[in-house]
Amino acid sequence: MGKNYFYSCFIALFLLAGCTTDSPDKKVNAHRNDLVLGASARDFLSDELFTAIDLEIVYVTGFEPTAEALNSLRTFFERNTHKPNGISIQTRAISSPDVGSYSIEEIKAIEKKYRTAFSVDNRLAVFIFFADEKSQDSKEGTNILGKAYMNTSMVIFDSVIKSMNGSRSEIQTVTLHHEFGHLFGLVDNGTPAQSEHEDENPEHKAHCNVEGCLMAAKIDVSSSPLSFLENGVKILELDEHCKLDLKANGGK
Ligand SMILES: [Zn+2]
Ligand SMILES: [Zn+2]
Repeated sequence: MGKNYFYSCFIALFLLAGCTTDSPDKKVNAHRNDLVLGASARDFLSDELFTAIDLEIVYVTGFEPTAEALNSLRTFFERNTHKPNGISIQTRAISSPDVGSYSIEEIKAIEKKYRTAFSVDNRLAVFIFFADEKSQDSKEGTNILGKAYMNTSMVIFDSVIKSMNGSRSEIQTVTLHHEFGHLFGLVDNGTPAQSEHEDENPEHKAHCNVEGCLMAAKIDVSSSPLSFLENGVKILELDEHCKLDLKANGGK
């Protein structure tokens, strides 16, 4: 009984969301930054509503993105999205919020306090926070490197990246690309999957089951056959299934 109630409730909400995107308010809706993860996938990939991207990166002093990681992010956008008016990147340092390890609520509060870039006209804005502490969800033996948590928002746990063995630029790069893969709606989470390649483990929802793919739930750059060197940084490629999904939803 209770179960049925929740199911019908879910369906009602789903239909409502479907109606909203098809209404004349589509444009207004597209400029919002409080939508669920994947809701702006097509807006990132195509040039139908947005022809440029504004990235606002706020970092805690000492936990900045490397120049190589930012260069590689630019290339990643050029390779996967239609943005004829380009990608602009602004970075800004803040002092530590001093809250210890971060919950998503705390990250959202930081975004509320520091985000100044919002989508206007044909420019799509993104907020990225480079954090000085780990995620509250981290467990022994598993490093959570980043999390995309809303349609245009993500956090990178640079304190964790800094503590790892290996190139900081490389780990930042792969993490940024992976989290953008989520903003682009992969896998089947905003961008419909054209083939069945979503990881079946419920804990790995929205990830790819192809080993070595950028969107696999667990990634190991050094052992992936899809890794390659670009602009001096070793990066991970999307496998063919993920690439086709992006293309089918307006991407390159
Ligand atoms: Zn992921
Ligand atoms: Zn994939």
